[in-house]
Amino acid sequence: MINSVYIHIPFCTNICNYCNFTKFYYQKKRVREYLKALEGEITKRYQNDIIKTIYIGGGTPSSLDIEELETLLKLTKIFKFKEDFEFTIEVNPESLTKEKILLFKKYQVNRISMGVETTNVKYLKYLGRNHDFSLVKEKIKLLKDLGFTNINVDLIYALEEETLEELATDIDNLLSLEVPHISTYSLQIEEHTKLYIDKVKNIDEDLDFKMYELICQKLKKRGFEHYEISNFAYPNFEAKHNLVYWNNDYYYGFGLSAASYIPSLRFTNTSSFSKYLKGEYVNDQEELTKKDILSYALILGFRKIKGINKKNFQEKYGVNILDLYNVKDLIKEKKLIDDGSNIYVSYDKIYIENDILINFVGE
Ligand code: SF4
Repeated sequence: MINSVYIHIPFCTNICNYCNFTKFYYQKKRVREYLKALEGEITKRYQNDIIKTIYIGGGTPSSLDIEELETLLKLTKIFKFKEDFEFTIEVNPESLTKEKILLFKKYQVNRISMGVETTNVKYLKYLGRNHDFSLVKEKIKLLKDLGFTNINVDLIYALEEETLEELATDIDNLLSLEVPHISTYSLQIEEHTKLYIDKVKNIDEDLDFKMYELICQKLKKRGFEHYEISNFAYPNFEAKHNLVYWNNDYYYGFGLSAASYIPSLRFTNTSSFSKYLKGEYVNDQEELTKKDILSYALILGFRKIKGINKKNFQEKYGVNILDLYNVKDLIKEKKLIDDGSNIYVSYDKIYIENDILINFVGE
């Protein structure tokens, strides 16, 4: 059963210096063509599954004008939703308006994810973002005034020259917004970005680690639960949609470069605009063996701080998690903890989690 939907909107009115996502400058004609093609893909592939979570990401979905957004949101009417479904849309502060927020409400959007990234003017400029923190405060207030309580903000840290004090101020500013979910990202300089061309380097690993520790300490002190390596939420505000990925559950991905996981198959859509318009959706696909499925289940599941529930794992995959790969050895080495019901990465090893997860790749 496929219970989740991701829809990619690849348009932005401004291209950020660090971005390597699939995106294009907003152009009215392209948006019109794209929404038409998106409708074609959704109509062709959706199999009437009951949808529990839907996430519209990008790009910048809120860069669409009000008519375009309504066309997009009308497309979601095709889905059959479960009663308490979660419906998230990504926005940026500059393009979010009262009119758009009211439209989101009309189409039952109930969760907003805002790209704040940093509240420091110097670093906003460095990242190539066009807003400032006063605009963020204004738009968060507007969202709350119009009834949105389930709001995420993104934080990017580990910026060149950034100090721990500057990061602490950023975190305090985000906390002052009083939103229930914060996602954090350590800046990685990716190829084909302006920062890469400008030869910016990733910061020193020790400082990166100290920054991660600072984020964890400050957010946990304020009542946030650290529930996934990079994600923090007040109780009951975890991102249900992202949990679908980490629980290795099925999802549709519609739109340019969107990834899907359906029974026995993972595939990624093309990032070529022209191919997508012609209905040549899929770029590459991976047929999954049982071993692949188990490998994904471990790698994704251990991203959650509570890890993997042994009983659920046995029921879902028909195997004992302790018999897989070198799980038992990792428990003996205290890299993984078995508390009787769950197995999870030892909290003091989370920062080097990738070194542990590599054990579950391949044979
Ligand atoms: S980071 Fe987001 S807003 Fe910036 S260019 Fe990339 S997709 Fe657009």
